[in-house]
Amino acid sequence: MAMKIIQAECTSCGDCKPVCPTTSITDKGGIYKINVETCTECEGEHDSPACLDACPAGEACIVYL
Ligand code: SF4
Ligand code: SF4
Repeated sequence: MAMKIIQAECTSCGDCKPVCPTTSITDKGGIYKINVETCTECEGEHDSPACLDACPAGEACIVYL
């Protein structure tokens, strides 16, 4: 259970990274990625994935794996 960033839709705005409770989002070289090993889909922290809620491109950009 994890989320995935669709690179073609990501503008590298950075809004998702600071809201992640598990620090699962990295931005190496401006490429934002979610670590599938540590992403919890925010279970126990938020009612919905915080990164998805923060992303200006929404469900087009951050999807459920
Ligand atoms: S769903 Fe939650 S835990 Fe997973 S990357 Fe997004 S903010 Fe982080
Ligand atoms: S909030 Fe969305 S558009 Fe912005 S860096 Fe994260 S995934 Fe990319």
